[in-house]
Amino acid sequence: MEIDNGLRELYQEVIFDHNRNPRNFRSLPDSNRSAAGHNPLCGDQLTVFAKIDGDTVVDVTFVGQGCAISTASASLMTEAIKGKSISEFETLYKGIHQMLTESHPENVDFGKLEVLSGVREFPARVKCASLAWHTLHNALEGVNEIAKTE
Ligand code: ZN
Repeated sequence: MEIDNGLRELYQEVIFDHNRNPRNFRSLPDSNRSAAGHNPLCGDQLTVFAKIDGDTVVDVTFVGQGCAISTASASLMTEAIKGKSISEFETLYKGIHQMLTESHPENVDFGKLEVLSGVREFPARVKCASLAWHTLHNALEGVNEIAKTE
């Protein structure tokens, strides 16, 4: 799918907005899952916190520092995943990975996360965009080691 210039500008605007004013950017004292992630290629570091009740992600937040793409992706992720089930997260996690590295999946409803599709044109930024997703995946799997994008 080609992205026209108008859409590209809109996507960039959403990413800038989420970088300037990241959503759910705080620790979560009553979280029962957390994991740290590091992208050594860019220097992005973040920690993701989640509160899981049964199969539902009741709340999800993050802290850390990184480039605009990593911060915006984490912000968009927390907004999209809050209230979703773990299996819905896994579907989006796999879909985002495919969107960033291969081609746009046909059967996944990305909603606002569609703005991340522009990152595929910048291969050096793919690991920035996927860091938060790998980190939350590890948190939900109970993996304690630091998520590395390498
Ligand atoms: Zn980065």
